[in-house]
Amino acid sequence: MNRATSEQLYQEAEDLIVGGVNSPSRAFKGVGGGTPVFMDHGKGAHFTDVDGNHYIDYLGAYGPIITGHAHPHITGAIKTAAENGVLYGTPTKLENQFARMLTHAIPSLEKVRFVNSGTEAVMTTIRVARAYTNRRKIIKFSGCYHGHSDLVLVAAGSGPSTLGSPDSAGVTRNIAEEVITVPFNETESLKQALETYGDDIAAVLIEPIVGNFGLVEPKPGFLESVKALTHDNGSLLIFDEVISAFRFHYGSAQEITGVEADMTAMGKIIGGGLPIGAYGGRVDIMEQVAPLGPAYQAGTMSGNPASMAAGIACLEVLQQDGVYDEMDRLGEKLEKGILKHAESYGLPVKINRLKGMLTVYFSEHDVTNYDEAEATNGKQFAEFFHLMLEEGINLAPSKFEAWFLTTAHTEDDIDQTLEAVENSFKQMAQ
Ligand code: PLP
Repeated sequence: MNRATSEQLYQEAEDLIVGGVNSPSRAFKGVGGGTPVFMDHGKGAHFTDVDGNHYIDYLGAYGPIITGHAHPHITGAIKTAAENGVLYGTPTKLENQFARMLTHAIPSLEKVRFVNSGTEAVMTTIRVARAYTNRRKIIKFSGCYHGHSDLVLVAAGSGPSTLGSPDSAGVTRNIAEEVITVPFNETESLKQALETYGDDIAAVLIEPIVGNFGLVEPKPGFLESVKALTHDNGSLLIFDEVISAFRFHYGSAQEITGVEADMTAMGKIIGGGLPIGAYGGRVDIMEQVAPLGPAYQAGTMSGNPASMAAGIACLEVLQQDGVYDEMDRLGEKLEKGILKHAESYGLPVKINRLKGMLTVYFSEHDVTNYDEAEATNGKQFAEFFHLMLEEGINLAPSKFEAWFLTTAHTEDDIDQTLEAVENSFKQMAQ
């Protein structure tokens, strides 16, 4: 594949933009280097790059793009919003409409507030939990990524782990001391942390279905134990559903797992591809937030009409009959096909999949926590990633990320992808 224009643009970008990218996970550091592909346009499940090469996309912009690129219903909603003026600084009817959709879909959201990113949403839930409990510390789970606010950049997941620096420079020791990290899918360490720091713990923060060391589901009973231990300690349970909300069904992971959170942070899919975040939860907790309560949180861009309109339109597409079943069906076909080719070529591969989201690990062992994800073969993943890119398949450049199917992927896309997988595995086995 000729990617001369991408290479030229990347050189230019490196002169202008730090590292040539506006988010570190877009660089190819996690896959042994290389030039990130500059995409020109996307339609449905497909991308065309600036050199005219075509790709089937499984990156889904790291999760938000669940209806495929440039979905006409979402594009139409954004156009209308643009024609009506993109930012008012006043309340709008769209905010009520969208808040109603979210609170209907996710029963634990008694009240919500819109913000502009997943980072902001999680950051604020922590502040509100501290205000509500009058406690300082939080407990999080190793490998879970919760955005880039200081407090949660401790033992963080996909982006930072790929770069090999789980703690960020610039996060002070004082801040790091406010966070205790324990392993996912294991309750004993959580119990011990709560015994040691009990009265200090404002909240336990978790991705109920993990997306940041690949897709990892909670073991049966794990979330129930987390909730019981958290509440016995007088702490709040915060679910980070920035990836999981509306990913697996029309609603949150809470309806799938049967465990409700006190507060929930969301983002990605609910913006239909435009910048968004939202948080919400029990009314007595949410009433801590300004202007009703003492916990301050604000935003010039928050609830802007374009993001609201795109989010509403995206959820309307997801309300259509059968969309999640179809992503599940195609996801299963993809999973089975990849495993079959891996077996034929003698490559050790494990796949974690739920509906239209999956992670392909190069490993002989199942992955149920961060250490196991880290122990998977990054060199083999890197080789696979580059071979797949040459075959016209756009994956996330990290062994810790997931493949995202969209409502736009077709049977034909899956067949072509499996052909590419077979060609790639054949070369890897040589
Ligand atoms: N929480 C989770 C689970 C995420 O996966 C991410 C981003 O990948 C975030 C929070 C941060 O969201 P954003 O990148 O919109 O700030």
